[in-house]
Amino acid sequence: MTEGSAIDRIDLLGLDRSAMVGLCREWGEKPFRGQQLMRWLHRRFESEFDSMTDLAKGFRQTLSERATISAPPVISDHLSADGTRKWLLDVGQGNAVETVFIPESGRGTLCVSTQAGCAVNCLFCSTGKQGFARNLSAGEIVGQLWLANRLVGARKAALADPDDEQADEHDRAVTNVVFMGMGEPLLNYEPTLAAIRIMLDDHGYGLSRRRVTVSTSGVVPMMDRLRDDQPVALAVSLHAPNDGLRDRLVPLNRKYPLAELMAACRRYLERAPRDFITFEYVMLDGVNDGDEHARQLLDLVRDVPCKLNLIPFNPFPAAGLGRSSPERIRGFAARLADAGIVTTVRRTRGDDIDAACGQLAGDILDRTRLVQRTERSPIMMERV
Ligand code: SAH
Ligand code: SF4
Repeated sequence: MTEGSAIDRIDLLGLDRSAMVGLCREWGEKPFRGQQLMRWLHRRFESEFDSMTDLAKGFRQTLSERATISAPPVISDHLSADGTRKWLLDVGQGNAVETVFIPESGRGTLCVSTQAGCAVNCLFCSTGKQGFARNLSAGEIVGQLWLANRLVGARKAALADPDDEQADEHDRAVTNVVFMGMGEPLLNYEPTLAAIRIMLDDHGYGLSRRRVTVSTSGVVPMMDRLRDDQPVALAVSLHAPNDGLRDRLVPLNRKYPLAELMAACRRYLERAPRDFITFEYVMLDGVNDGDEHARQLLDLVRDVPCKLNLIPFNPFPAAGLGRSSPERIRGFAARLADAGIVTTVRRTRGDDIDAACGQLAGDILDRTRLVQRTERSPIMMERV
């Protein structure tokens, strides 16, 4: 058989367990070979079929002819003084996406992208301002996790003693995943779902459902599907306490207004791994940060067990919006906390490398803008 071109080879990184087992069957292999393969990929972060020593030579040959393990190529790799690390990844046709790794004591959180650009076009988001380019495949989403684990050094630890069954169980760089990079995960549903399944699978990354968080601007029908298919922790980008304002800030609100969104949150909680929804609320000076907004917000979330995460806005030139002052943010947080809502303010991480939520910018055709963005800088995420 001649070597398959990159185009007709199957990308193994994006296959969940049933797809992997199905592929093995199709190629005349026993189903458990699929599990073995998954472990090589996702627990040892292997990229060479020849190194997969417990697979028969013939099978390895088939794999090298018909399959590929190909995470998106890394265009740049920035390490911040605080340990935050950001990769810009090439997803073809002049598009790039970003992945951010945030180390904290006892855990490592990876912020992954699901789309190049985003069609939702929130007023305050630089990804939205780029417009929508394309959906990422499951392999490109999982590839971010695979790459991060390799690049942060877990692979070395896992390979140190290849006979140690436990070796791939510890020293893993990424312990938590948040879908808070570029794009709206629930508008790229099937690949996002397959990626989540691989992240949770015991033969995949083995993450618990509580350690994988999907963030959505509020795609109501897809919140219901995620609840039924594979509920993980959920963050909802609220940003406004009434429909008039949210229509402006998050245009998707015109399709799924707040009453529907809150009802979907309540339905989601029936199956969620955590007993609260995280509401994200970007603090925009003079726009959504007044006392009346805090009052309305309290009314809105009264019936939804939740935590509130206030995100100081990351300014960018085209936004025409400003960040609320630290005093304003503190006052706003205090009002909500006094009323019994657990409220946190997102900490600044990766300042010096522009690794903040909503700042992730991927258009490699526009290098000038990218450099400008890299010179300024923002904030980052915290525990959700
Ligand atoms: N599309 C999804 C997930 C990606 S955005 C969503 O909207 O939830 C991840 C988070 O970053 C969201 O809460 C988003 O509202 C926030 N964000 C976007 N732009 C921002 C900015 N300029 N400053 C601060 N947070 C921003
Ligand atoms: Fe898209 Fe989220 Fe940005 Fe809105 S905030 S434009 S949904 S990535």
